[in-house]
Amino acid sequence: MTMPTPDDASHFVAADTFGRPLRSLRLSVTDRCNLRCKYCMPEEDYVWLPREDVLTHEEMATLTGYFTDLGVDRVRLTGGEPLLRRDLPRLIRLLVQNRRVMDIALTTNGILLADQAEALFDAGLHRVTVSLDTLRPERFRQLTRRDEYARVMEGIESVARAGFTGLKLDTVAIRGFNDDELVALIEFGKRVQAEVRFIEYMDVGGANEWSQQKVLSRAAMLALLTAHYGTIEPMPERGAAPAQRFLLPDGATFGIIPSTTTPFCATCDRSRVTADGMWYRCLYATAGTDLRKPLRVGASADEMRAVIRAGWEGRRDRGAEDRKALERDGLRVGGLIGIEKLREDPHLEMHARGG
Ligand code: SAM
Ligand code: SF4
Ligand code: SF4
Repeated sequence: MTMPTPDDASHFVAADTFGRPLRSLRLSVTDRCNLRCKYCMPEEDYVWLPREDVLTHEEMATLTGYFTDLGVDRVRLTGGEPLLRRDLPRLIRLLVQNRRVMDIALTTNGILLADQAEALFDAGLHRVTVSLDTLRPERFRQLTRRDEYARVMEGIESVARAGFTGLKLDTVAIRGFNDDELVALIEFGKRVQAEVRFIEYMDVGGANEWSQQKVLSRAAMLALLTAHYGTIEPMPERGAAPAQRFLLPDGATFGIIPSTTTPFCATCDRSRVTADGMWYRCLYATAGTDLRKPLRVGASADEMRAVIRAGWEGRRDRGAEDRKALERDGLRVGGLIGIEKLREDPHLEMHARGG
């Protein structure tokens, strides 16, 4: 098989069994986190990936290069908490050198952002998303089990100062927890020049506090917001982007990511590499491909690309749709994976594979 190289005139894009292109890569740069959000890390103690297994910045950039040879043009840095990774700007500088990476974004909980925003911007990071589920410090502490609300606020304020535009705030909407804050979050977003995106609560990884009753659906969110703002107009779809965007009467916009009630698997072009080089083709996948091993034993670029290409071309995953199908038979009752199994394989955790 002749593999594409970065010098090919036309860029090859691998497609999976449903014709979905390989376009978007989420790199989890660490599995560690300085929060313990109940929907993501409900335990206090976790089995961490062994430090010697965690890929170096150079290894991550090299791996990313194989992915971009096969179609990837967007990279999102995530985690765990990506800003806990030492010298993240250095990884960004390496990724910026890859001319096929058109967009480098970061998803962070914001705690360390005020310290690092300028260095991240100078390194060439394009966009920042901060996860923010509540504007009430006490609620924040209750959800995340850490008293870091003030630092998150400082982090959000620092983004525009550092030079970034297009800040996004991602909110997991949970019935009975923050469904009374949707308007306040949109209004806060307007103040800090950010677009808020509400994500439906998912039963992924260690989300063992998940239940169907806690899912605030897109329809319920729109009803709540319409009651406050009046008519809300849907905006035109943007390809494989998971967020559906809406326009408020005053011209402000917000997004909804209806991952649970209306999965977007049919157009999903994203996959994930964990900090130790396991590659998962779906957020819900329980099996992945170890890319660290061949990388470290010196597999050639062609061999690495052949592994990734075969993995993508064989992809059949539609995890969220499969989970939704269980509803019909009343089998969707709790988190995806039990705690014992999660302890055996930390890769199955949301904080390991990056959300
Ligand atoms: N620590 C960083 C942060 O929180 O932004 C990056 C990693 S975190 C796993 C990425 C995203 O996944 C966050 O926006 C988080 O809210 C979301 N997330 C985690 N568990 C979730 C769940 N059960 N349902 C929906 N979103 C979830
Ligand atoms: Fe919360 Fe992100 Fe940490 Fe998960 S990885 S506990 S969502 S801050
Ligand atoms: Fe993509 Fe899997 Fe999420 Fe569906 S569940 S949108 S296939 S990552």
